[in-house]
Amino acid sequence: MSRVDAKHMWKIYEGGVEAVKDANFYCEDGGFVAILGPSGCGKSSTLRMIAGLEEITRGELLFDGKLVNHLGPRQRNIALAFETYALYAPLTIYENIAFPLKAGGLKKSEVDKKVKQIADMLNLTDVLRRKPAHLSGGQQQRVSLARALVRDPNVFLLDEPLSHMDQRVRVVLRARIRRIHDELGSTTIYVTHDQEEAISLADSIIVMNVGVIQQIGTVDELWNHPVNKFVAGFLGEPAMNFLEGKIEKPQEVSIAGGEGEATFQLSGEVEERYVGGEVTVGIRPQKVIVSPNKKGDKLVPSLIEVIEPLGESKILTAKLDDVELKIVTSYEVEARVGQIIWLEFKPEDIHIFDKETENALIEKLSRNG
Ligand code: ADP
Ligand code: MG
Repeated sequence: MSRVDAKHMWKIYEGGVEAVKDANFYCEDGGFVAILGPSGCGKSSTLRMIAGLEEITRGELLFDGKLVNHLGPRQRNIALAFETYALYAPLTIYENIAFPLKAGGLKKSEVDKKVKQIADMLNLTDVLRRKPAHLSGGQQQRVSLARALVRDPNVFLLDEPLSHMDQRVRVVLRARIRRIHDELGSTTIYVTHDQEEAISLADSIIVMNVGVIQQIGTVDELWNHPVNKFVAGFLGEPAMNFLEGKIEKPQEVSIAGGEGEATFQLSGEVEERYVGGEVTVGIRPQKVIVSPNKKGDKLVPSLIEVIEPLGESKILTAKLDDVELKIVTSYEVEARVGQIIWLEFKPEDIHIFDKETENALIEKLSRNG
């Protein structure tokens, strides 16, 4: 297995589309990294450059410290499973999975053992004698995944490998993929637009948007210390709430609501030059504290418009002046539509973003300090 390093890697397609801009990241030997971002942000382009299927326009790609830019996919010895499965139609499922092993010159009995093992893990045992055309999309995708995982490559590259499957099957296969990774100690780079998949699988997540890596970190880092509004809003369900606020003091932000405004303490300091200026305040739906009555001056009033029960919890949609807020509370919290509730935010749960650059303001300071 190999360590992968991307240094200042760019993909500019003919016609000038800058799909990947100056990407810097690594995946340790035996690591599991997810590339997460919305459709069109450059995830597949990044993976295809690592695979050797797409030329690297600028920058360097290293496997174990050795430059591989000029090597083809075969020489890089990577195993791929893509969203589109490209199975060999005339071959049976067994033969499809066995194909890369036979090409590698493995003994027949060894091939047989490996194919059956992986087929068992991915629930394909019953369809081994069939041809691809007789399988559902989800099954074909599992065959494609099996064909990748059966090998012993330098790096596994998986591009939305579960996208055509039902939610239930996806959850099962997620756990299997992680188990295979842990057993083989394989370096794995996994592309997905699904945050749940990235969170449940990867040790480290690379968040991309419009061709640019926004942040790289563990789930905890991305969740608690998003470096900008995009990362803050992309991770989390329901998404983080954003409100307009004004910096009163380096450690205080106020939010207008109802007749007046409420002032909240921050967990760190914002630069002096922001004092008196407007900022974006972020608060996760799970972190809003609600009270039926006003207590002190640290609360803003809001009007409940919708209540969605979710079993253990419920999601309230509440209006703070014109802004719609999502609030996740325990099912035990009493709430009814049309009721005024008072909202409070704890200092450590408040995120502050520059209105123009959208960069996190408190975070930056604590990083520098
Ligand atoms: P993702 O996998 O995150 O959805 P892609 O890497 O597929 O994103 O695409 C990133 C951008 O590059 C998109 O704007 C897409 O339209 C463009 N793109 C992808 N492939 C090509 C190509 N072969 N030629 C030109 N533009 C492309
Ligand atoms: Mg893609």
